[in-house]
Amino acid sequence: MPLLEERTLTLPDEAATARLGAALAAAVQAMPPRTVHVQLSGDLGAGKTTLSRAVLRALGHAGKVRSPTYTLCEPYDVARADGSPLTVYHFDLYRFADPEEWLDAGFRDCFAEPAFNLVEWPEKAGRLLGEPDLHLLLQSDMAGADDAGERRIATMRAYTPTGLTLLNAC
Ligand code: ADP
Ligand code: MG
Repeated sequence: MPLLEERTLTLPDEAATARLGAALAAAVQAMPPRTVHVQLSGDLGAGKTTLSRAVLRALGHAGKVRSPTYTLCEPYDVARADGSPLTVYHFDLYRFADPEEWLDAGFRDCFAEPAFNLVEWPEKAGRLLGEPDLHLLLQSDMAGADDAGERRIATMRAYTPTGLTLLNAC
């Protein structure tokens, strides 16, 4: 799939990251049931889990959102805008020693059903993961060090029409 569009957002603080998460959540909620694949890249501490947490909160999940660092995948049942069910799978592949673990874990099944798949550390699954609808890279911005180090730069890349819908919602 070709890159359809790229956009860079500045997130001056954690509240801005939460707003980005809420925008993504609202866009997914408004879509008809389909598989949505969003990849989150960036160094440890860049804010991938913080953003995922904001997405899940905005989708109406009231309980805890644990980082799937050890469980690799955490499932959530939330709802679409019309009240129909929406399943979210939140992955963290950091601990993968080999991309083949993606197949061994059976995670491909999560992409065979209409679900919202949020994947931290997609690089760890290599090509087995396939191309996302939207890829989001979070980076600290050294120039923002005087803002208590909260500033992040989000580079968003849409590879599909679904990804383009998400990108245009942000
Ligand atoms: P990752 O999942 O990428 O390793 P986390 O989301 O677990 O990162 O951690 C990000 C840390 O950075 C959290 O402690 C969070 O409070 C902090 N933080 C500060 N500013 C921001 C921001 N603008 N966006 C996201 N997280 C931020
Ligand atoms: Mg994380």
